[in-house]
Amino acid sequence: MQPYDGVDFLNLDELLSDQEKQIRQSVRTFVSDKFLPVVAEHYQAGTFPFNLVPEIGAMGLLGCNLQGYDCAGLNDIEYGLIMMELERGDSGLRSLASVQTSLCMYPIYSFGTEEQKKKWLPPMAKGEKIGCFGLTEPDFGSNPSGMLSTAVKKGKSFILNGTKRWITNASVADISIVWAKYDGDIQGFLIPKNTPGYLPKEIGGKLSLRCSVTGEFVMDHCEIPEENILKNARGLKAALMCLSSARYGIAWGALGAAMACYHEALNYAKEREVFGTPLAQKQLVQSKLVWMITEITKGQLLALRLGQLKQSGKIRPHQISMGKMNNVQMALEIARVARDILGASGISDEYQCMRHSCNLESVNTYEGTYDVHKLIIGEKITGLNAF
Ligand SMILES: Cc1cc2nc3c(=O)[nH]c(=O)nc-3n(C[C@H](O)[C@H](O)[C@H](O)COP(=O)(O)OP(=O)(O)OC[C@H]3O[C@@H](n4cnc5c(N)ncnc54)[C@H](O)[C@@H]3O)c2cc1C
Repeated sequence: MQPYDGVDFLNLDELLSDQEKQIRQSVRTFVSDKFLPVVAEHYQAGTFPFNLVPEIGAMGLLGCNLQGYDCAGLNDIEYGLIMMELERGDSGLRSLASVQTSLCMYPIYSFGTEEQKKKWLPPMAKGEKIGCFGLTEPDFGSNPSGMLSTAVKKGKSFILNGTKRWITNASVADISIVWAKYDGDIQGFLIPKNTPGYLPKEIGGKLSLRCSVTGEFVMDHCEIPEENILKNARGLKAALMCLSSARYGIAWGALGAAMACYHEALNYAKEREVFGTPLAQKQLVQSKLVWMITEITKGQLLALRLGQLKQSGKIRPHQISMGKMNNVQMALEIARVARDILGASGISDEYQCMRHSCNLESVNTYEGTYDVHKLIIGEKITGLNAF
């Protein structure tokens, strides 16, 4: 198998700065040398290699697009390229960085007090503290505005009650960003690990995103000091701002998974002989490979344009929806076709496409399902809410 060297049919590298390419290369090397050798074993075990997190932190990949507080202060295209390279390894690896960066550090950075930022952001950037983001509930996923979790003020404390489910890193997190109804509106709070009444546990039996820890937590009269409110994280809009940041990263990340699968299928097809010729010499197979690289290239253009818009502060949520919706669906279809090209080998953990395909089922669902993003775009272009 040829070493992985990206996929760039339209010479899009010409649009990237030297620094952007260097950052991409350093993450690519980390994924090849440190992550890919252990991913199959962790995927089978249903675990994440947390021993790599300090190195991921030392590389500046956590909270990478935030300024100050020991964060790397990178631009939005650099952030996207990092997500792409991490997800080339596994969606679980990108999920760890996405959740930490966009769903946990970003709300503390954007809505927190100076004290909260100084306390949490530096250790989170170094990977010494892990965060989780609790928005989804057992009965409210696509429609978080219906959430049942509540917060009530009692003296100098808040008392939280409710259940959050399908929360990445819930059972290992040092700090949870939790959303609950307070005084008639959704509000963000910080719940540190080991707070009495905060009861996290891991969800087992997953057939997707196995190299990622997914859990749930119950808040049973969970009492936190009043200074743990994320004061400016008020209203569903605040939670959606975090999701927009994460969805932007997923639009890039999914490209990484698609590119890994294309690379694997192309190389396999060139080496595998069937009916006396390389598989890659068959027109049907070339048709599949051409479709893959065309879809990847369109997805790259979409992500790059989103990066430019985000960089200039002009990006709108419905534009991010198109990136998340299209690129994840594209990656999922490419992973399935790659798996088909590999024949029986495609189901083995010696190869990546089946793992990516299984992972992308989750990525298609979380951070707004494919259909939810369609509804967001549909409302934007028609002015009619079809939720
Ligand atoms: C591995 C994994 C990790 C996750 N990590 C997190 C996390 O860290 N934090 C967090 O808060 N959440 C997390 N989630 C939860 C995720 O965001 C939700 O699963 C997602 O929002 C969908 O919600 P749901 O599962 O309740 O599905 P539902 O909302 O019940 O949707 C089921 C189906 O109905 C469709 N649907 C919904 N509304 C409409 C409509 N109006 N019209 C037509 N069809 C509709 C959906 O598209 C979907 O196909 C994670 C999920 C997974 C699988």
